[in-house]
Amino acid sequence: MQFDLLLKGGRVIDPASGLDAQRDLAIADGRIAAIDADIPFDRAARVIDATGSIVAPGLIDLHSHVYWGGTSLGVDADRLAAKSGTTTFIDAGSAGAGNFLGFRRHVIERSKVRILAYVNISFAGIFGFSQTVSVGECSDLRLCEPRETVAAVREHADVVVGVKVRSGRHAGGTSGIAPVDLALEAADQVGLPLMAHIDEPPPGRSEVLPRLRRGDILTHCFRPFPNAPIFASGAVRPDMRLARERGVIFDIGHGMGSFDFEVAKAMLSEGLAPDVISSDVHLYCVDGPAFDILVCMSKLLALGMPLVEVLRAATQRPAEAIARPDLGALMVGAVGDIAVLRLRPGSFTFVDAVGASLVAEQRLISDGVVIGGTWWPNEAAGDLGDTERFEAHAHETHVDVVARHFGRG
Ligand SMILES: [Zn+2]
Repeated sequence: MQFDLLLKGGRVIDPASGLDAQRDLAIADGRIAAIDADIPFDRAARVIDATGSIVAPGLIDLHSHVYWGGTSLGVDADRLAAKSGTTTFIDAGSAGAGNFLGFRRHVIERSKVRILAYVNISFAGIFGFSQTVSVGECSDLRLCEPRETVAAVREHADVVVGVKVRSGRHAGGTSGIAPVDLALEAADQVGLPLMAHIDEPPPGRSEVLPRLRRGDILTHCFRPFPNAPIFASGAVRPDMRLARERGVIFDIGHGMGSFDFEVAKAMLSEGLAPDVISSDVHLYCVDGPAFDILVCMSKLLALGMPLVEVLRAATQRPAEAIARPDLGALMVGAVGDIAVLRLRPGSFTFVDAVGASLVAEQRLISDGVVIGGTWWPNEAAGDLGDTERFEAHAHETHVDVVARHFGRG
């Protein structure tokens, strides 16, 4: 058999199957065609030298915001993919039933990188979000319409993976727990998981968590006080343990304000590692503190989570959460989505969402990705230094941030 692409000599790590060894990996017709100790050069149309690199399933960022141009917080997924090792972005409710078609037509269908999505229970999606504007899409319950949500999920079933709700003082105003109950009803109706965001109470995590079912996702699971998953003493709150036992999925969702090193240390020390590491990347955290999924993974690595578990939390686990095991594993026949990564030694200072820093001696970087069998190099890989400080930019207006990213006019 002749292959389209051969990744040669890399350390192949596939958490789902337990494989961690030097292997060659070949792709044909957009799918993984062979994984072997030695596949000859002349059997492939194109060969990528992966010596010294990690060849892993393409990263799946379970919580991102990529409705570029259609929502104020959207980033351009294609610009972020190769740099961050991401082959699938899951948009976490940027769009609701009222604007999902635009997301699909103008973004999802035009992107080179794979995009799937949760539909927001709010008809308008996340419409009022910047560093200076915060009008929560669930603060007016007239927007939370389960019938509309269910219809949108069914209409776009090929790209929809679940329902999203953002409850809390910022996203839900004085609506309390009601948006969560409405979103759960919609999710139940279509037989899909719910991803629940928490911010500042009310509602508190203690109201949200008991409602979540096996396979539902708590995002911002390691958020800081208030509504942190630990007591001031560092002990894990009992509702977190009960939820884990019930099969609720804990997702990082780093973002602008939702990851705290002290909380993460406490959770890890009590054996409660996150199921999923996601970035919650959007326009106001893509330049820090979250940056992208690889930086978030590097933070968990620096906190002592083993490399294979960090990779599992960005491949196998998110694939399970969206019921797409063919995307998060390196088996023959699976979709040809691959991340070629590297552990870069140096001195790196990571900063969390409350401004605390952590110095690490290594970070993960991306050589590039394979998406559906096509190699897509990270053009910036050669310019990366061995010392870097991962800090957020100071406050800017929406126009400033957009201009810096996309130019004026
Ligand atoms: Zn988000």
